Amino acid sequence: MTKQPEELALLAESGRLLASVFEMLDQISLVGLSTLQIDAMVEQFIVHDLQARPASKGQYDYGFVLNSSVNEVVCHGVPSQTTVLRDGDIVNLDITLEKNGYIADSSKTYLVGQVNPAARRLVETTYEAMWMGIEAVRPGARLGDIGWAIERHAKRNGYSVVREYCGHGIGREMHEAPQILHFGKPGTGLTLREGMVFTIEPMLNRGRRHVRTEPDGWTVVTRDGSLSAQFEHTVAVTASGVSVLTLRPDERNRVAKTKVLA
Ligand code: MG
Repeated sequence: MTKQPEELALLAESGRLLASVFEMLDQISLVGLSTLQIDAMVEQFIVHDLQARPASKGQYDYGFVLNSSVNEVVCHGVPSQTTVLRDGDIVNLDITLEKNGYIADSSKTYLVGQVNPAARRLVETTYEAMWMGIEAVRPGARLGDIGWAIERHAKRNGYSVVREYCGHGIGREMHEAPQILHFGKPGTGLTLREGMVFTIEPMLNRGRRHVRTEPDGWTVVTRDGSLSAQFEHTVAVTASGVSVLTLRPDERNRVAKTKVLA
């Protein structure tokens, strides 16, 4: 379950490239674009500009390079020509990238145009919750410490945490052990060791935590129709703490203790 230094260097390279995909997306006005257009844009960037492979395409018979989850869609939204982003929407773009055999996984919820304050607060709180999970990562910490940090922040702000989907180990495979739950009790669960690499990707709902899957077999929505947001980073446990492999340049100040692998 732990990675060797050479593997960590390759994972860091994949993470750096994936971060640049989000930097590209940050420059784009999403209003009026279909989620299928965004998928095509990201595929072009990953394949041609980065000379890398979109790891989601073909995995589990999935035909796209990203998941695009709009408003009440919790996760696994499928890009479509008919899903056109409108002013006021929130959309999570979840992207995986493989380079030299190693996969990185990250997602970000974008505010489309002018988003109302309540929706913006959900998005901001979800982002903070992810960081609280990340900040709980260090050798000797327990998986339950991560889940607890996330769940506590969500609850304090009146939001619920989705339980059916979790973070995961990652490396040569997109989904490896262990599972990273976004709820839990401190001091419980697996003990973290240097060299472990996994994702932290909490989904927070404005309403209740319950979800259902649409008839397409992919799209997961909140059962009560409430808004849902998500953020995700791929992280490595280091000797002294955590390294966020998919860290974007605009996040460098986020945690002083976060060490980006060279
Ligand atoms: Mg993931």
